[in-house]
Amino acid sequence: MPRINEIIETVQTYHPGADVSAITKAYVYSAKMHQGQTRLSGAPYLEHPLAVAGLLAKLRLDVAAICAGLLHDVVEDTEAGIGDIKQLLGAEIANLVDGVTKITLLSATTKTAQQAESLRKMILAMADDIRVLLIKLADRLHNMRTLGYLPAEKQRRIATETREIYAPMAHRLGIRRWQVELEDLAFYYLEPETYRMIQQGVATRRGERQEFIDEVKVKIVQVMAEHNIKCRVDGRSKHFSSIYEKMQRRQVDIDELYDLVAFRVITTSLKDCYDALGVIHNTWKPIPGRFRDYIGIPKPNMYQSLHTSVVGPGGQRMEVQIRTEQMHQVAEEGIAAHWLYKEQGASNEAEERRFTWLRRLLEWQREQKEPSEYMDTLRMDLFPEEIFVFTPTGEVKELPKEATPIDFAYAIHTEVGHQCVGAKINGRMVPLRTTLSTGDQVEIITQANHKPSKDWLKYVVSNRARSKLRAYFRDQERARSVSLGRDLLERELKKRNLTLAGVLRENKLDPVVEELSYKTVDNLLAAVAYGKVSPRHILNRIDPQPEPEHPPGLLKRLSRLRKRPQGGIKVKGVDDVLVRYAKCCNPLPGDAVKGYITRGRGVTVHTADCKDLGHVDPERLVDLEWDVPASQVWPVRIQVVGNNRTGILADITGVLKQREIGIVEAEAHTDPDGNGVATFLVEVNHARQLKRVLGDLKKIRDVISVRRLN
Ligand code: MN
Repeated sequence: MPRINEIIETVQTYHPGADVSAITKAYVYSAKMHQGQTRLSGAPYLEHPLAVAGLLAKLRLDVAAICAGLLHDVVEDTEAGIGDIKQLLGAEIANLVDGVTKITLLSATTKTAQQAESLRKMILAMADDIRVLLIKLADRLHNMRTLGYLPAEKQRRIATETREIYAPMAHRLGIRRWQVELEDLAFYYLEPETYRMIQQGVATRRGERQEFIDEVKVKIVQVMAEHNIKCRVDGRSKHFSSIYEKMQRRQVDIDELYDLVAFRVITTSLKDCYDALGVIHNTWKPIPGRFRDYIGIPKPNMYQSLHTSVVGPGGQRMEVQIRTEQMHQVAEEGIAAHWLYKEQGASNEAEERRFTWLRRLLEWQREQKEPSEYMDTLRMDLFPEEIFVFTPTGEVKELPKEATPIDFAYAIHTEVGHQCVGAKINGRMVPLRTTLSTGDQVEIITQANHKPSKDWLKYVVSNRARSKLRAYFRDQERARSVSLGRDLLERELKKRNLTLAGVLRENKLDPVVEELSYKTVDNLLAAVAYGKVSPRHILNRIDPQPEPEHPPGLLKRLSRLRKRPQGGIKVKGVDDVLVRYAKCCNPLPGDAVKGYITRGRGVTVHTADCKDLGHVDPERLVDLEWDVPASQVWPVRIQVVGNNRTGILADITGVLKQREIGIVEAEAHTDPDGNGVATFLVEVNHARQLKRVLGDLKKIRDVISVRRLN
């Protein structure tokens, strides 16, 4: 166990100017607060925070991180609060301690096994400072080292969590030293028999292996010297969990595993790495397909090295890794090496590479935004696009940022989404449009037969919720169009004293469905609603008769259809009906309108007060509503009558221009009374806009009357 003086001395070696008085302060406070507490080993509790601080000092972390390491259990395990720490040592250290405490509480409330990946992400999302993760990892490493004192069941739980969450985290952060130790300790507690088997397998022939290692090391040093390559060589057995993983992957016994030994050649320059590789390949025969250049293409955690396998002395296969001193340090310490370079005032180029590294780390799961902003504050938001929340049973759900309880409800189950009537966040009722934050516990209140509201589409951000809602509304809409189609057909059938029920009973619609290539009767009925198939057409198929003549006047008027933008109108909430706009009254968006169901040409739109509607069969009228984008323009004709003074025409077009109304056609003449009559075909997007401009035109001096022409 390191003593506080040793820790301070270590800090001073890599950070000579550091103000270490804070470390002493933190130490004294931690000692005071933990006084009287013991670890299960019987040792004073203070040993643990000291050990954690010692591990952090070995990674050369800054003073704040070391202080937070000393204080990391004070808030959770003693009377002290975050406020006390803030007062004593400032906000930075208090925030670090707070972050570590939050993660500790988090992992205590979660079921790990099934949730490892989400929990790992959640921890990363909650830790807004990389140092929080490093402190938590150091904490976990020391707890794993002293796990033997805990009851067996706790050992298993903690070891599982370590294997599932903390070892991978150490790997992601590139701290190989900690990763290896965490993996092996977890392995030891979770699979004691296999562990012992490998231990023994490695131990037998250890002497033999050591001889082999020594022989190869000497040989490498010798051949490198011959080629003037400065380096140091390191040979070692691989760690147990990686041996075990290899045995499983290759389905072999430990005796059959040749490359239990790996050699490292650590050079002083990048160029020497490639030269050293050539020398190795000249000395021993390389095994094809085993060469990897992680210098050219670094691993996502910024690991850089050349890897090759060769047939060594005695035909023994061995792996050789070649890298520079700096790459080696990154390989062992990962992200922690960042602080070292930062504090030594690294050159811009080196700093740039740290950026790259951090960027790769950030890209680990998701694409990232500009990362530079993180560098100043060392803040980290690994998942800026995601949040992590709990179900009432402690399950973690991952949602996009800005997600609401509705997104959460659909993430649980489609029916929970559809029937969602309310939500509680951390036990309190909230509106459904409330945005969730990482760490929230969310409970959904459902009610049978409740239906989703269209407004929800405005609040949801997850693809799942959106697509479930759209599918729901599509189904609803389809049900409505089938029912509208049924109505339309029923009305038509009635004219010959037929009923739809009767027609269906005798399967008379089936040939029509087949002839028009629809899959089902419902599809045919929907097509009727959309105006794609006329009810008359169906009627004539079922009950062929010569079609009676229509009053020519009505037919003529109804066919005087003007070409207008397609769409823009809904029949009783049904989208996509074939519509046309009647020329007789020329309806504009905003006008009250009625639809006339034509024979096979969809629905014709008239203004509600159009005189032509007085002649038609009221059975065939439907209610309509507008649904147009504001950008769409509609042609309408207007007429302005005024005194025939010079410049009045310019005044009129000036007003139109000012209102940004396009003029398609213009015509002017003098009427028998000597008044000027100007007619314009203009484009507007709404009846309201037209009304406004007519009002403006009326105010022009010498204008007598203004009106919309149909
Ligand atoms: Mn602890």
